[in-house]
Amino acid sequence: MDIYERIKNRDPNETEFHQAVFEVVESIKPVLEMHPEFRSANILERIVEPERVIMFRVPWMDDGGDIHVNRGFRIEMNSAIGPYKGGLRFHPSVNLGILKFLAFEQVFKNALTTLPMGGGKGGADFDPKGKSNEEVQRFCQSFMLELARHIGPNTDVPAGDIGVGAREIGYLFGMYKKISNEFTGVLTGKGLNWGGSLIRPEATGYGSVYFAAEMLNARGETLEGRRCLISGSGNVAQYTMEKLIELGGIPVTFSDSNGYIYDEKGVDREKLDFLMELKNIRRGRVREYAEKYSEAVYTPVDPDLKYNPLWDHAAHCAFPSATQNEINGIDAGNLVKNGILVVSEGANMPTTPEGMNIFFDSGILYGPAKAANAGGVSVSGLEMSQNSMRLGWPAEEVDSRLKMIMKNIHKTCLDTAEYYGTPFNYVNGANIAGFVKVAQAMLDQGLV
Ligand code: GLU
Repeated sequence: MDIYERIKNRDPNETEFHQAVFEVVESIKPVLEMHPEFRSANILERIVEPERVIMFRVPWMDDGGDIHVNRGFRIEMNSAIGPYKGGLRFHPSVNLGILKFLAFEQVFKNALTTLPMGGGKGGADFDPKGKSNEEVQRFCQSFMLELARHIGPNTDVPAGDIGVGAREIGYLFGMYKKISNEFTGVLTGKGLNWGGSLIRPEATGYGSVYFAAEMLNARGETLEGRRCLISGSGNVAQYTMEKLIELGGIPVTFSDSNGYIYDEKGVDREKLDFLMELKNIRRGRVREYAEKYSEAVYTPVDPDLKYNPLWDHAAHCAFPSATQNEINGIDAGNLVKNGILVVSEGANMPTTPEGMNIFFDSGILYGPAKAANAGGVSVSGLEMSQNSMRLGWPAEEVDSRLKMIMKNIHKTCLDTAEYYGTPFNYVNGANIAGFVKVAQAMLDQGLV
């Protein structure tokens, strides 16, 4: 039985994990043919099984005195090339299968960064939306009370993801410090005045734009004057728009879970400042943007639609920056029909397998998440380095390192895809390059 069938039979409910594994297995077939040593060491069977899965109860009390119980997780997926590293997601959809897919992807993504980081992911099915600051604080403290015994700056270094930003990292860090009696770089995405790295908040969005610019450059094109569709309105979407504006691109859409904005004239610096204040300070909804700027149109989510109308506007570039499987086959078809040149994935696994096949057939430039959104975890890696050295680099230094890392990832993917006979297939390039690095390290370290 092949590995894909085996994981499906073993954990039949983990559909997102199956999807992530299927994609990698398809890409690395030629590698396994060329490397009998990977086959005889059963690297593939070992790499799809987490080294450790931690699941725990997270009890917390709301402002009214009622008690709630959420489920907390940490998947320690692979430590062949460094301590487990990856974000924490707080969202009601969180379950074991989703976190396993994220942890699995993280292993290859982190390998591509060239920094010494293994892969992990964690989180809880807690919904921060609508919760008071005090409730979020109590939840984070309860979550860390258990997680603390499993992590450490040389063991496992969590960070943010959906629903976990600077505020949550602050509460988590405070509790870790109290329990361990140690001020150490155990989390990344920390506040700038207590060990965080400059450019970390910007890094995923900036990186995804740098990656798109590299892909376009490979075909003699630039972002200048390009109309860009962005989904999401969190940290990744915001800094994607910031960098696009800086480089002469024109962001025309963004969204939240209730609906999306189409701004024909484009989001400029002033409008982006309004959106950032709305989202980050007031924790409001994107609908308010259209109330402030009359040229913008707000469209609420229609649960009966089989496609997302955000992806059905004429544009040159798409930056999915919301969540997994947000571009299905119909959406991908609409993007291609409307003349898209490049897709750069800021979110993790935002395109379904049907969507991916449409991108492959059309020959557009398609930068998969593992490569395109690796900027975030890269600067997390740089935050770890700065913490170890007990110093902080200036923003220009971090940004230039980020740019260099994204350039290198792009080149690695491009060269690897070419070498394996699938030129410009960045999916194959990313999967193969990430896999070979981790597989080689696993071989070197024996059966552990
Ligand atoms: N959650 C982000 C990702 O998907 C960042 C992880 C990190 O900084 O450790 O890569």
